[in-house]
Amino acid sequence: MAATPRPGHPALVPETIPVVVAPPTRKVQDAQRHPRLARELATIRAMVAIYCHDHHATHGDALCAPCGELMAYATRRLDRCVFGDDKPTCANCKVHCYTADMREQVRVVMRYAGPRMLRRHPLLALHHVIDGRREAPDLPAPASRRTRSPSP
Ligand code: SF4
Ligand SMILES: [Zn+2]
Repeated sequence: MAATPRPGHPALVPETIPVVVAPPTRKVQDAQRHPRLARELATIRAMVAIYCHDHHATHGDALCAPCGELMAYATRRLDRCVFGDDKPTCANCKVHCYTADMREQVRVVMRYAGPRMLRRHPLLALHHVIDGRREAPDLPAPASRRTRSPSP
């Protein structure tokens, strides 16, 4: 009788199984389950595009390399935001998860693109203004602290 292959043994893995590589970001691209995060992503993307197009002669969806890096960084931060869909605008945030350098880069982009958003992306601009008026929440307590019973 043939020996039963162990789980994970190559003989048990058909060659046709596609390798599913998890994308670097997930929540921000799931507009149905995370509409707030998806909208934030659209807003920052629109702002970076306005800035990049006007300063670095790019067009359409294209960004120059540094702006592309900034966008990738902002997308990762957004995806891992501790507030999730209850997030404040990053400008009002009490946590500020960006590094000082990236925060300064985003500030420069927003200062330029912000006033131009109303004309080019009025709906996103309106939502951003409304979101910016909401009170920023405090940092949520870690899950372990929330569920742990008080010590005697
Ligand atoms: S700066 Fe604040 S709101 Fe923005 S992604 Fe980081 S933790 Fe979330
Ligand atoms: Zn650029």
